[in-house]
Amino acid sequence: MLNVLLFGPPGSGKGTQSKKIIQHYGLSHIATGDIFRKEIEEQTPLGRIAQHYIDKGELVPDDVVISMIEEVFEANPKVKGYVFDGFPRTVSQAKALDNMLQSKKKSICIMIVLDVSDDELLKRMLKRAKIEGRKDDEPHIIQNRIKIYKEQTSPVIEYYQKQNKAFIINGMQTEEAVFKEICYHIDNFSQCK
Ligand code: AMP
Repeated sequence: MLNVLLFGPPGSGKGTQSKKIIQHYGLSHIATGDIFRKEIEEQTPLGRIAQHYIDKGELVPDDVVISMIEEVFEANPKVKGYVFDGFPRTVSQAKALDNMLQSKKKSICIMIVLDVSDDELLKRMLKRAKIEGRKDDEPHIIQNRIKIYKEQTSPVIEYYQKQNKAFIINGMQTEEAVFKEICYHIDNFSQCK
């Protein structure tokens, strides 16, 4: 099973690159932000909980996210692998994911980190806000999301560095150049052969 963890701050291009990886390697996509937005649109109980946090640019509590991921896993036992996009976002989510995969004799094969400067992130997210009209793409909420990424999410990189699975890529190159580098790393450094 090829499980790729695509990592980076909000606006670093995870969504765009995920689509390309999925198509190229025949994988499935787990994007926790997309799942939450769908639940909010359908006004489900999970959606109501998530909205409270998302509207402020804060993280949804770990236990809520983890049980949601477990459900996705249980419902799709036959997939070739996953691209995780926007998850795990805390070290405790990463540990829960590792435990869950281990219990199924699977693992994260590689982590790709997209590195983008704060100025560029802000520029991209403001542009996206105009196109998609996401409520959490307002300037002060964007700033909060970047701050939370630095404080709570970026320690996840070190967690996977200790497992020799993390590779940092310059996310400010063209879309195609970033994708080429991602494929190079997956093809050569994935720990699942
Ligand atoms: P995204 O589309 O990945 O930028 O996620 C949008 C928002 O959904 C985030 O700002 C969080 O409020 C929430 N969210 C998405 N994924 C997670 C996660 N793994 N843990 C906690 N909150 C999350």
